[in-house]
Amino acid sequence: MTVETRVSDPRGAAKTSSRQEGPGGIWDSVKKTVVVIGSGILFLAAFSNSLTWHLQRFWGASGDFWQNLWTKLFVMFEGHDATLFYLGTMLLPTLAFWGSNGLLLLVDTTGKPSFIARYRIQVDKNSPVDPAKLSHAVRNVIFNQVFISMPMVVAVYYLMSLRGNPCGPELPTFHWALMELAMFSILEEIMFYYSHRLFHSPSLYKHFHKQHHEWTAPIGIVSIYAHPLEHVISNMLPVVLGPVILGSHLSTTSMWYCLAFISTTISHCGYHLPFLPSPEFHDFHHLKFNQCFGVFGVLDRLHGTDTKFRQTKQYERHTLLTSLTPLNESVPDTPKKGQ
Ligand SMILES: [Zn+2]
Ligand SMILES: [Zn+2]
Repeated sequence: MTVETRVSDPRGAAKTSSRQEGPGGIWDSVKKTVVVIGSGILFLAAFSNSLTWHLQRFWGASGDFWQNLWTKLFVMFEGHDATLFYLGTMLLPTLAFWGSNGLLLLVDTTGKPSFIARYRIQVDKNSPVDPAKLSHAVRNVIFNQVFISMPMVVAVYYLMSLRGNPCGPELPTFHWALMELAMFSILEEIMFYYSHRLFHSPSLYKHFHKQHHEWTAPIGIVSIYAHPLEHVISNMLPVVLGPVILGSHLSTTSMWYCLAFISTTISHCGYHLPFLPSPEFHDFHHLKFNQCFGVFGVLDRLHGTDTKFRQTKQYERHTLLTSLTPLNESVPDTPKKGQ
């Protein structure tokens, strides 16, 4: 399925880049992707090797702590593996999602604390957010979570149980968990990029993806404000397939789901906050529609779908903010010049 979208998408979607690429260009990009991702895996393997070596002092000591904690849970839920699985893959990620979004919504609806509001990327937008638009989005998000995500996680449990017990008595090693998270991220980048570009082809865009783009200045919950079909294909599958393919342990799966929810919330939140990953990339996608389709930007670079982005102020600001000065103050807009 991934292969299919990979082939069909760049021909149908995003006119500007398909014109540049042509069929040979696409092959070239695919080869480059393989090289970049392949060397990425090698680099991560080497990096996590040395990182693990250093962290073992901390983790090695606390490793027993986590294993003991897991053993307690394992014994407590003995015979109720499904319950334990759903607590880790539904309840925990949902709490992570609504916990982070609850805080963001406070700022979006009240503009307070003004300290946070200063970090808004699109300065004049959502201050405060339109209540009718917001409540419509909240209802759609809850619908997607209850009627799409939850049944999909049930299916994931049955698929994972077919090939082993995702709630086994032994935790994976720290090293392996890191490796799995890296592989999940690569798979997510590939699946999200190509399915997202496919949803930007005119016919699919009109019927499905337009809804997500109603928000040209997104807020946190907009991350899963989408047509149900898009929610299945672009939001859920790229995230849930990794652990199914690798037959991961519940602990890694749960951590991955929480990370995925939190990172997509940050990408949409509309604030470039200190010490958090930069949301400029996806915020720019909502602003301009035909740029920045991926999660990490690797495939956008390879397919040339970030060329306009790389000429903007937003690109200059697309970095980890390590001071308290908002980036639109330290990297101000050039006065009145069409981008
Ligand atoms: Zn989005
Ligand atoms: Zn889009």
